[in-house]
Amino acid sequence: MRTPLLAGNWKMYKTTGEARELIEALLHGLGDVSDREVLVCPPFTALQTVGALLAGTPVKLGAQDAYTETQGAYTGAISPLMLRDLGCTYVIAGHSERRAIFGEDDALINRKVRAALAHGLLPIMCVGETKPQRDAGQAETIVVAQVRAGLAGMTPEQIGQIVIAYEPVWAIGTGDTATPDDAQAMHATIRRTLAELAGTDVAATVRIQYGGSVKPDNVDELMAQPDIDGALVGGASLKADSFLRIVHFH
Ligand code: PEP
Repeated sequence: MRTPLLAGNWKMYKTTGEARELIEALLHGLGDVSDREVLVCPPFTALQTVGALLAGTPVKLGAQDAYTETQGAYTGAISPLMLRDLGCTYVIAGHSERRAIFGEDDALINRKVRAALAHGLLPIMCVGETKPQRDAGQAETIVVAQVRAGLAGMTPEQIGQIVIAYEPVWAIGTGDTATPDDAQAMHATIRRTLAELAGTDVAATVRIQYGGSVKPDNVDELMAQPDIDGALVGGASLKADSFLRIVHFH
């Protein structure tokens, strides 16, 4: 069985003091999470503070991005090695904000996923269509192409270590969520694509998270879908009570 992964993407929010407060509140209310995996992805500047607070707890530390190289003259970039050094176990790759605002394409995302794996980080590779693409009936074609290009050239063993996050762009930060049926249909399509790339056995083990305005009041029906294996949560991960409610979906 696939262990659900509930991940908070804090984006460009939280100073170190605010990060400390949020983590203390999360840990205070965490309870039993033995049947699920919980992850927080703070901004780079809070990773050390948050990592120290999470030591010895079941909550894992991840980063929101990593560059493709280990070290070098890449002003402003952070390497997977540096993230491992801070205790990160996961890294997000290809979030739609990175694609849209920072111009990242599938080829760069593919290199980022490979670099993360090479350093022992588990990548969460994000895919998702825009509203015009969905309205034009292209959602599946776009998402399948993103999955194929993002994973191009990888072995089944590598693909088996990756988490995919299906995040329809029109649902991110908007309050609009895919219906559980629409999300399930896309997750099943992604799993079929993974089976074509890596075989059905590997595809059956890969976790596919849903992301896009996941909230306490919609998480339960989304997580009840057979191919939805967790959530990547932005806005609702910035407050302890809402993230804890999502973590404890039924
Ligand atoms: C995200 O940042 O990946 C996300 C899904 O954001 P939100 O939950 O705010 O829509």
